Amino acid sequence: MSANLVELVQNAGIVGAGGAGFPTHVKLNCTVDTVIVNGAECEPLLRVDQQLMAMETVKILTALQAVMDQTHAKEGIIGLKKKYTEAIEAVNKDLPAFPAIRLHLLKNFYPAGDEQVLVYETTKRIVPEGGIPLNVGTLVINVETLLNIYDTMTTGQPVVDTYLTLTGEVKNRITTKVPLGITVREALELAGGTTIDDYVVINGGPMMGKIVDPESTITKTTKGLIVLEKDHSLIRSKTKSIKESMKMAGMACMQCNYCTELCPRYGLGHSLEPHKLMRIAAYGKTCDATTQATNAFLCCECGLCQYACVMDLQPWKFNAMLKRELGSKGIKNPHHKTPTEVERFRTIKQFDVHRLVLRLGLTKYDLPAPMVKTDQVFTKVNLLLAQHIGAPAMAVVKVGDTVERGELVGEIPAGKLSARVFASISGKIIAVDSGKITIQS
Ligand code: SF4
Ligand code: SF4
Repeated sequence: MSANLVELVQNAGIVGAGGAGFPTHVKLNCTVDTVIVNGAECEPLLRVDQQLMAMETVKILTALQAVMDQTHAKEGIIGLKKKYTEAIEAVNKDLPAFPAIRLHLLKNFYPAGDEQVLVYETTKRIVPEGGIPLNVGTLVINVETLLNIYDTMTTGQPVVDTYLTLTGEVKNRITTKVPLGITVREALELAGGTTIDDYVVINGGPMMGKIVDPESTITKTTKGLIVLEKDHSLIRSKTKSIKESMKMAGMACMQCNYCTELCPRYGLGHSLEPHKLMRIAAYGKTCDATTQATNAFLCCECGLCQYACVMDLQPWKFNAMLKRELGSKGIKNPHHKTPTEVERFRTIKQFDVHRLVLRLGLTKYDLPAPMVKTDQVFTKVNLLLAQHIGAPAMAVVKVGDTVERGELVGEIPAGKLSARVFASISGKIIAVDSGKITIQS
């Protein structure tokens, strides 16, 4: 079965469900010695992976073993936080049948799910600057991605649904499975709707998620929707303009260095010192021979530096801008050092998630969001042709065609990095444009 796994995964349109949506068939086409399951789910309030790990344990372990066979990995590691007791119990019960797989328990810190942090925590290998886990013989894969792999291995089912947590100002905080292509508003109705009228929705976790329109579309990478009031401090922070953020940096950055001390990439020994980059915002230069604007390429935009900062400044936003500006000038990351050791106090500086939730002003929403099955029938979906990193899929249907749920509607363009798209409901194609396909049942 595993000999054809890359092909099966490509045919099913599987992409990384936990991040930016890198096409999984490309990721699996490699040789590593270790496959690591990212079950950290370190973004506060999200509850998908920890519940899938507890409920679908054997399926996930079976898919992990298949990925290990495909990549010739000798070892599989499941990274779970110590607090996910139900998932840990379920994994421990089933692990004896999978002798090459072990469980690694993580403390409750942010960002435990950052790929490079997870690789170090589970294997003590340091991914080089600007590198990926493959550089140190590892492959990191998400829990839901493995479940999608299992489904296609056993039934041939392509990706037509996604799991997501609905939380914040909603009537019932839940985690559920929805068809791809429904709107954010329709998804929120599954949670009984919102409890306030003047709200904003974050797609993803509070740290790295983006504010989205309620009429926007659920995609393969949607993991959670958080509803907050418009003037919540987190929304004010996310919507603060870069101009305002830079002005504040110039006025209030006291070069205390806390942002650097708590930066997870600095902790791994990378040449990223956000406090020095903040000097560019304040004085136009870093005043340091070893740090230049290009060091911002090493920032993963986890946002933790803001919550380390007593002045609530946003080094991550400034770094993101620097990366965009440099990229637009064709400048690439020149930093590729491989650290030989991590920062010696990194463990004691790990940022506790409870403390982070408090700083984010989200304590009242930090509650269970149990998995529920909904029987809601959706009559219309908009399937984006770009739900992944790479080129958009190419529509292979036309207006007037009738499709069944699970039928191919978007194909990988020849020779491109891309992923296939499938009908998530049965019905008639009522619109096809360069960006999306609309199906009405
Ligand atoms: S923590 Fe804040 S004040 Fe201190 S150096 Fe960093 S950005 Fe400046
Ligand atoms: S966002 Fe801040 S804390 Fe996170 S990697 Fe970038 S500089 Fe470091």
